[in-house]
Amino acid sequence: MIDLAVVEDKSLCRYLAEELTSRRDQFSLCNCLGEILQKLFSPESYVLYELKGEDGGYPKLEQPASTIRLINLLDPEAPAQSLDSLEGGGQAVKLGLAVERVLPSKKKRLIQPVKGLLGVHVLIVLEGYSYKEDARNLIGNLAAIFGNLNLLLMQSERDALTGLLNRQAFDRMMAQVHMDLANIYRRQQDHDLCSFFAMLDIDHFKKINDTYGHLHGDEVLLSFARLMEGTFRHSDYLFRYGGEEFTVILSNVLPEHASAVLERFRETVQANLFPQVGEVTVSIGVTEIDASLPISSIIEQADRALYYAKNHGRNSIGYYEQLIENGELKPMSLPEADVDLF
Ligand code: GH3
Ligand code: MG
Ligand code: MG
Repeated sequence: MIDLAVVEDKSLCRYLAEELTSRRDQFSLCNCLGEILQKLFSPESYVLYELKGEDGGYPKLEQPASTIRLINLLDPEAPAQSLDSLEGGGQAVKLGLAVERVLPSKKKRLIQPVKGLLGVHVLIVLEGYSYKEDARNLIGNLAAIFGNLNLLLMQSERDALTGLLNRQAFDRMMAQVHMDLANIYRRQQDHDLCSFFAMLDIDHFKKINDTYGHLHGDEVLLSFARLMEGTFRHSDYLFRYGGEEFTVILSNVLPEHASAVLERFRETVQANLFPQVGEVTVSIGVTEIDASLPISSIIEQADRALYYAKNHGRNSIGYYEQLIENGELKPMSLPEADVDLF
């Protein structure tokens, strides 16, 4: 049994004041909560799972546990699992209350649900010990503080209509991916895996608005976002860049996998029947994220490849590097600051 006497009020206040409330993105917030749980309760293991419904959004009330996916928030590369594979998880979600289970290994598992706007949306899972009531109350309170902070972050980083990451989150994450790649190059590690940046623009969207009205146009944007969530990996970053333009950052993938998933998405959109509107298509421009180039140039490359796809029949993908190689596009001149004149 873990006794709360080991927890000093002062250290808890410091964790909350200096650590948890200072985090500005969801991944860092989740890691911080994990560190606090580790320091306060020393579980043998802890995981934070986000719950996703069938369409990639919040799970629906009464949706069967086998169709709710658990996304490991601390390890974006971990494969998703279904809620019913987590013994006690379904009950914690249904009741909205912490559930304790004894595992076949005799270890204890505590599942603490975190409530969001539309019900439980995160589960904190601690394994190893049994916790006394005051410790369980503290974990419940930490979950509530985390839930509120997470909601604030989600609202500031998410687009209100589609729920995808917004432009502000894009600027931050693109800078992060770019910096990580630059560090990898600096360490000169071998890497077959590359990162890609894709711009996706719905074809003739203005016509959809003009023909069916703005509300149906909004519905297309929402369905389009759900198709993105259903097609790309949950470790890919999906953004609404603005209007009917979306972007994707595919990090650490084989080039053939990047083109395969983008092609699959283009086909998925084409095959999907959007309510009222019917067929919709998308044009895509993609480029490798080359850390030796400034971010503005990487965006411009994808934009030029997209422009090419738009000018060559739409409903297609322009691959920047390939277009340069084939002479279809001219290489861009470097930004002035990077040009060595002497
Ligand atoms: P293209 O195939 O060349 O991309 O043509 P397009 O009509 O899709 O592109 P254009 O840039 O001419 O028009 C984009 C339209 O998207 C115009 C704008 O009114 C509409 N739009 C932008 N944001 C929203 C939104 O949030 N909701 C709706 N319904 N429409 C939007
Ligand atoms: Mg556009
Ligand atoms: Mg468009």
